[in-house]
Amino acid sequence: MFEGLNFNAVLRVAQIIDFRVYLLEVYSRICPKCGRGDRPFIGFLCDLCYVSEFGVAEIPRSIDFTYCRVCGSYKHQGLWVDGVGGVSETLSEYLLIVLSQKIKPTRYIDEAWVRDISVGAVEEPGVHHVKVTISGKSGGVEVGEVKTVRVKVSTTVCPSCSKRATKTGYNAVVQVRPAIGPLDSAFKAELWSILEDLGARARSSIISVDEVKEGVDILVDDQNVARIIASKLKAKWGGVVSASFKTTGSKPGGGRKGVLALSVKVLNVRAGTLVSYMGSPHIYVGPTSRGVLLVDLGRGSTVEARLEDLAKSRVLNAGDYVGYNILVYRFTADLGGSLYFIDESRGSKVEVEKSRVKLYAGSLKVGGYYLVYQLGDQLYVLGEARVEQGR
Ligand SMILES: [Zn+2]
Ligand SMILES: [Zn+2]
Repeated sequence: MFEGLNFNAVLRVAQIIDFRVYLLEVYSRICPKCGRGDRPFIGFLCDLCYVSEFGVAEIPRSIDFTYCRVCGSYKHQGLWVDGVGGVSETLSEYLLIVLSQKIKPTRYIDEAWVRDISVGAVEEPGVHHVKVTISGKSGGVEVGEVKTVRVKVSTTVCPSCSKRATKTGYNAVVQVRPAIGPLDSAFKAELWSILEDLGARARSSIISVDEVKEGVDILVDDQNVARIIASKLKAKWGGVVSASFKTTGSKPGGGRKGVLALSVKVLNVRAGTLVSYMGSPHIYVGPTSRGVLLVDLGRGSTVEARLEDLAKSRVLNAGDYVGYNILVYRFTADLGGSLYFIDESRGSKVEVEKSRVKLYAGSLKVGGYYLVYQLGDQLYVLGEARVEQGR
């Protein structure tokens, strides 16, 4: 009974409103609220009255913002996202994302968007009031309004930073091990630049990079990132990757849980480097499918060595072998497919076809002194020779 009555009452009110709107539409464009007749209309009010009455759009009045005080990343929908620049810039980006997702145009607005966010300086946790400029469109009429959002800023240490601090939570370790001698500083610098060049997501998975006695250990959260790092190292220097898996338990859904160890034996020497191998000096030429190619300085022959056998090798100073089998040549000209040198010890001219020169010294400078080694009809130019003035 009463429900029927209520329905009729509602219907009657709706009919009256509809009739009033009809009258306004047909007989005038005078705003029924402010009485102006020179404004565009949105619904049954002028644009100004519409915005003051209903607003352009609804956005959340209050938002929580949690960021990591160590790395500046912030929490969004349960995930940690890399920050941009300082805290204020990051908060501004975060608000743009969240508010654009949650913005709801009011009844007669077709679309609404966040035009501007004015964060101001965020120096410490607490409550910040942020001005948000909203724009909207209704037919051809564009309207705007400024709203204030209350942002509760809190800081914490994100999971990757806390793992990094305690070095726990890693699921993989990339063990970078030199094939010959220790890793020098140039090599370590190249290693850093490889890690820097990984994408932000992969980089954030690295928990720590530690120099250990045998080389460098890279602790990684994600095992796939560890595989990527190992393959990048191998692509850069050559060498072998061996994997082992240490089970530490089982996953809730079945399957093994544990630490993946990827040992990367890298060829940390460049072509032309003089190394000791089996107790005698050899020139390192390059990697082969089974190991590396070396030139035996004493016997004047090439040998293929396995990486494991290089473990006891070390890098030698080629200058110490001058006169033994290494000569010093002065480069004089590059003419007609040949290179011309002067053999300093004999004072004789040497002409070598370009195709028979293996150049490890970068580009040759006329007048420069170079350490060279002759094997059969091949001339190995090993590097620049340090020659005293007046020689
Ligand atoms: Zn009005
Ligand atoms: Zn962090």
